Amino acid sequence: MKVFKFGGASVNSIERIRNVAHIMTHWGNEKIVVIVSAMGKTTNALEKVVDAFFAGKKEEALQLFEQVKQQHLTTAKYTLVTHYLECENQLKDFFTEVEWLLHDKPVRDYDYYYDQVVCAGELFSTAIVSAYLNETGVSNKWLDVRDIIRTDNDFRDATIDWEFTRQKTNELVLPQFNHCNVVLTQGFIGATDENESTTLGREGSDYTAAVFANMLDAKSLSIWKDVESVMNADPKQFPDAVPIPELNYNEVIEMAYYGAQVIHPKTIKPLQNKAIPLYVKCFLDPSLPGTVIHNKPVHHLPPIIVLKEKQVMLEMSSRDFSFVGEHHVGHLYNLFEKLNIKPNLTQNGAISFVCVLDDRTEKVEKLASAAADFLDVQVVKELSLLTVRHYTKEIFEKLTESRTILLRQQTTETIQLLLH
Ligand code: ASP
Ligand code: MG
Repeated sequence: MKVFKFGGASVNSIERIRNVAHIMTHWGNEKIVVIVSAMGKTTNALEKVVDAFFAGKKEEALQLFEQVKQQHLTTAKYTLVTHYLECENQLKDFFTEVEWLLHDKPVRDYDYYYDQVVCAGELFSTAIVSAYLNETGVSNKWLDVRDIIRTDNDFRDATIDWEFTRQKTNELVLPQFNHCNVVLTQGFIGATDENESTTLGREGSDYTAAVFANMLDAKSLSIWKDVESVMNADPKQFPDAVPIPELNYNEVIEMAYYGAQVIHPKTIKPLQNKAIPLYVKCFLDPSLPGTVIHNKPVHHLPPIIVLKEKQVMLEMSSRDFSFVGEHHVGHLYNLFEKLNIKPNLTQNGAISFVCVLDDRTEKVEKLASAAADFLDVQVVKELSLLTVRHYTKEIFEKLTESRTILLRQQTTETIQLLLH
């Protein structure tokens, strides 16, 4: 058995949905669980619906939702013939689920509503893709993953109940393979024991795919993307980026930790735990080798570069020249936990503590004001954080040419620079 994951970009147009069918046809008799994300920018569009609803702008929310509906109906209309009506009925049930909620007034917290609305994107896309595959002869069973993936009620960042989910996977997924070779379901979403929808964090479909790979002891997981393979840097930022044919789990976890947007950071653990190889493949040209990520040692990696923009530095120092020690730092880490902040870099000095964060203004302000109760706080914005793994002197010089380095942290393998 294999697991495939198709991301939002791979299903964001009629041609691309056809392309998914084309790829699937290639795998003939293999048993495959297919995980699909919401189409294109649907998740962002649904976030706007939630924002309007939560701000009490019901009409605006309904109108924004109407646009999302129409986009999906149009896509269904242009992709499907014999399966159109069936798909339309399924879509309409999902539309009603959301609209019913949008007609109410918000009485619970934002994150709850976020998950109830945003989860619809994956339901819509999978309904269409599944219908299209069935219509073109890739016989498959569509499942609502909310019947399988059970989570806690930490909305927007839900944690999976592995025991329950494993049991449901055995009960609901495996028997389908007696009737067809493909089971198709949603990434990113789950449900609580009270049947409330939850999400696993943005870009979480990779993680869902890895969870299924683990639970099904899959031979491999393939993530189909619009890039030729994992690259050593983001080609949009660094045009000379080169493909990396082979990586190991460790390297990828490090890359994701430093902010490389390759694969969702939570994806690796479920695969590593069962030594399941991960293939990153190009859906635009499946004949390209892509990247394999596995347990084996990999030598001679190129420098791996991660550039994070929109960084903010908080410089915190004691007011009375006392040491900033475990007492203060412990207190700061409690604040990080409370505000759900993950610093990208920290540095402790005698009478100061520096941390670098993504500039999510509201959180940064909360942190700065809480820290100001016991330390002097200075905030510097508009910074970039550059991380280079397997750095060389040449690459270091090239990347820092004519830039001011505010802070530098270095191990034998990794260098991090905070730049103006
Ligand atoms: N559709 C979700 C998102 O855009 C999940 C995913 O694509 O993995 O974040
Ligand atoms: Mg996506």
